[in-house]
Amino acid sequence: MSFAQKLVAWQRRHGRHGLPWQGTRDPYRVWLSEVMLQQTQVATVVPYYRRFLKEYPTVKALAVASEDEVLRLWSGLGYYARGRNLRAAAREVVRRGSFPSTAQDLQSLPGIGRSTAAAIAVFAFGERAAILDGNVKRVLSRVYGVDDANALWPLAGRLLPRRGIETYTQALMDLGATVCTRNAQCGQCPLRADCVAHKTGRIAELPAARRKRSLPLRRTTWFVFTDGEKVLLERRPSPGIWGGLLCFPEKPVLKVAATRRLQPIDHGFTHFRLRIQPVLCEVKGAAAGDGWVTLREACAGAVPAPVRELVRALRSGAGAARARRRARGAPASPRAAGAGAPRAGRSPRRTSRAGAAARGAPGAAR
Ligand code: SF4
Repeated sequence: MSFAQKLVAWQRRHGRHGLPWQGTRDPYRVWLSEVMLQQTQVATVVPYYRRFLKEYPTVKALAVASEDEVLRLWSGLGYYARGRNLRAAAREVVRRGSFPSTAQDLQSLPGIGRSTAAAIAVFAFGERAAILDGNVKRVLSRVYGVDDANALWPLAGRLLPRRGIETYTQALMDLGATVCTRNAQCGQCPLRADCVAHKTGRIAELPAARRKRSLPLRRTTWFVFTDGEKVLLERRPSPGIWGGLLCFPEKPVLKVAATRRLQPIDHGFTHFRLRIQPVLCEVKGAAAGDGWVTLREACAGAVPAPVRELVRALRSGAGAARARRRARGAPASPRAAGAGAPRAGRSPRRTSRAGAAARGAPGAAR
């Protein structure tokens, strides 16, 4: 049996079936799933994919959505440029009147690279196109003992079967995600008899690890203004880190009598690490102005993971304070909202990378 035949036979018995984006040729649904799955694991994507489709069942619906609404739905999935590009691409598709239908043309849309374009062309249009995402690179590199990244695209193209491109492509994805992982499960692999890495004991070497760079550390301060159960948020400029999302101000935009430093938060981006020093600033009677939202609204809004984490801590503190007041029959305390906020501490908490990046592979800050 050929490489493709072995993979296809394996996929039919052991591959992933019944995922919400399988069994459709609707280019919108295929595209949405492929973009969400970039650097993100399937289990993370499924609920986001469902929510997104419910809100925007067609490309036209997405095209008229506001960026804020799209980012709110994307919130927690990370790599927010994907969400912004998705909306921009939807507008472009509507402007053109139809989806591009080849891997080549799909690359003209914002946020669609070569491998993603090929995957969409395969699953939506049945084109014989080669994909080469991180998982597939790992499989091909190990099976063929190829260490040269430039050789992998031509190799991926030569291996394409004449028929059954959809199952073959799904098989490659599935094998890379479930069997030929970093800790390869060679005992379950249909390719082990031919696999160079397996036969020569080079699994750990292939593909060659990229040299780890030590990332620079940047620091910032977040001024966490609270007024009762409201917080002050600002929209970040776009483009830029967390562009278009709501964050705490980085400047002391209001005067306060007393502040309290909270425990720092570390957040990883692709090119740097960010250490955030939150400073709790309690004010009274300011919450009528622009930017003030309730803790509940902030939690459900278009905010990056560290903001949501802080807001959740404030919410749980406010809830605990409310319960204590009820128990005592006491009047409201002005410090209630901050009572359960993270405390100052010596060692900063390490947050995972925002959203899916936290749960998936390394990559651009998302
Ligand atoms: S035999 Fe092992 S290393 Fe080779 S492709 Fe299969 S799982 Fe990967």
